[in-house]
Amino acid sequence: MRYISSRGDAPALSFDEVLLTGLALDGGLYVPEKWPRFDAAALRDMASLSYVEQVVRLTHPFVGKAIPEAAYADLVVDSYSAFDHDPVAPLVDLGGGIHLMELFHGPTLAFKDYALQLVGRLFNHVLESRGERVTILGATSGDTGSAAISGCVACPLVDVFMLHPKGRVSEVQRRQMTTVDAPNVFNIAIDDDFDCCQDLVKTLFNDTAFRNDMRLSAVNSINWARIMAQTVYYFSAALSLGAPEHEVSFAVPTGNFGNVYAGYAARCMGLPIKRLIIGSNHNDILTRFFDSGTMEMHEVTPSLSPSMDIQVSSNFERLLFDLYNRDGKRVTAAMAKFRESGRLKLDLECYRTAYELFSACCLDDEGTLAAIAQEYKNTGILLDPHSAIGVYAARQLGGDATAEGTPVVALATAHHAKFPEAVEEAIGMPPQIPESLAGLAGFKERFQVLPADVDAVAAYVREHAAVMAQTARGRGGESEGKTP
Ligand SMILES: *Cc1c(COP(=O)(O)O)cnc(C)c1O
Repeated sequence: MRYISSRGDAPALSFDEVLLTGLALDGGLYVPEKWPRFDAAALRDMASLSYVEQVVRLTHPFVGKAIPEAAYADLVVDSYSAFDHDPVAPLVDLGGGIHLMELFHGPTLAFKDYALQLVGRLFNHVLESRGERVTILGATSGDTGSAAISGCVACPLVDVFMLHPKGRVSEVQRRQMTTVDAPNVFNIAIDDDFDCCQDLVKTLFNDTAFRNDMRLSAVNSINWARIMAQTVYYFSAALSLGAPEHEVSFAVPTGNFGNVYAGYAARCMGLPIKRLIIGSNHNDILTRFFDSGTMEMHEVTPSLSPSMDIQVSSNFERLLFDLYNRDGKRVTAAMAKFRESGRLKLDLECYRTAYELFSACCLDDEGTLAAIAQEYKNTGILLDPHSAIGVYAARQLGGDATAEGTPVVALATAHHAKFPEAVEEAIGMPPQIPESLAGLAGFKERFQVLPADVDAVAAYVREHAAVMAQTARGRGGESEGKTP
C-alpha cells in the first residue's frame, strides 16, 4: 500500500513512513493511493468476527508489507486488551431508529483510545525494526493528551512530552495524564493558555535542527493511522445492524473532521453508508460549510464540548482532495487561498457531491444542556456534551433516513463522567464517577511547570528525551556539529 499527498507534490510513502511522518513535505495530508475494497460477500463474512478480528481484516491491507499479518494481529490484540467491554464498541438502542455507539470503553474513556492504543504500539513496532526512537511532542486541552499518553505508556521507544495549560484543564483530564508513572512520559504544565501551548509546539516543530535532533513526531488527528483505526467501528456497527443487506447512517460530533472522515473512508472501502451527519458546537465552521458550500474561518470561543473547539477542520483537506478528483494542484491552490483570505468556496458540482453524502447541524451550549436533560429524561441515558451534540444531530437530520427504515448510529465520543460539571448543570445532580476515574485522586501527580518560553521547553525536552542518549552513542563521540 502506497500513500500520496493531498497536494500532489510530495513523494509517495509506505505505511511505516506515513505513520512516522504526519504532515507531507508539501504541506498536504497523506491518503491511500487506492482504497482496499470489501464486497458484500466479504462484509457478510466479517459480521460474525470479534472486534479485534475485524480490525485485523479491515486494516491490515493499509499496513501491507510494513508489518506481517501475524505480528500485526498480536499488536491489535494487545491494543484492545485494556478495553473494559466486549464488544469493544457496543450499541444501545435509543428508540426512533437511533442507536448510540459507545466509544468510551478504552482506558481514558474517550473515543481517541480506539486509535491511539494501536498507534502507540505501531510506532514502537516500526521503530524497533528500524532501530530508531522518536520523541512525541504535543499540546492538549484535555482528551488528546491523556489518550496519547495512555497509548504510549507501553512503548519504550517512544518518549511523550505533553504540554497542557496550567490550571485550565479539567481535574479529571489532568489526573488522567499526570498520574501516569512511566519513564517515557513527561507532562509539562505551561503557565499560559492552550493557544500558547500550541504555539510553543509549532515553534519547536518548525525548528529543523531541534526537530531532527529530537526525532520529533506527532500523533495528532491528521496521522493516517488514527483514521485507519477509526474506520473499524463504522463497520462493526453497520454489520450488527444488518449491513450489507441494509444501509446505515451515522451522526458524528466532530471538529477536526477526523472521526467523520473515518466514516467516509469506511464508505470508500465498501460499507453501505447512506448519510454522514455532522454535529458541531457553536464553533460551527463545518455546519456553515455544508449549508452553504463556503468554508469560512471565524474566531473560536470556548464551549461545553472543548474537544470540538477548533477554527479549521484539518482533515477536511482529505475530502477536498477527492471532491477535486484527486487533483493535488487544485487542492494546493484552494488551501493557499483559504490561508490567505479565510474563505474556500466549492463549485456547484463539488458541493452537490458533498451534499449528497454529508449534512450538518450545530448546537450551542444551552441546547447541549437541554439535549443532555431530554435524553436522560426519555431514555435514562446520560450523555457527555460532545455525544449529546451527535445524538441531537441524529434526531434533527436522521429523520428522512429513519422514515425509510435506515438506522442512524450516533457516536458517543466520551463517557459523561469526564464532564461532570456540564452533566450536573443539565440534570441538576452530579453523575456517578466510575471507579477508574475516582481512583485517580489517590495517585501522585507528576508534572513539570514551565514558563511560556520556547527555550525553557526545548531545554527540558533535550535534557529528558532518551533519543539524546541514543544520538550521542550513535555518533560514537564524533561531532556532527548539530548542537553548538
Ligand atoms: C477529539 C474529540 C472529538 C472530535 O474529534 P474529531 O477528530 O474532531 O472528529 C469529539 N468528542 C470528543 C470527546 C473528543 O475527544
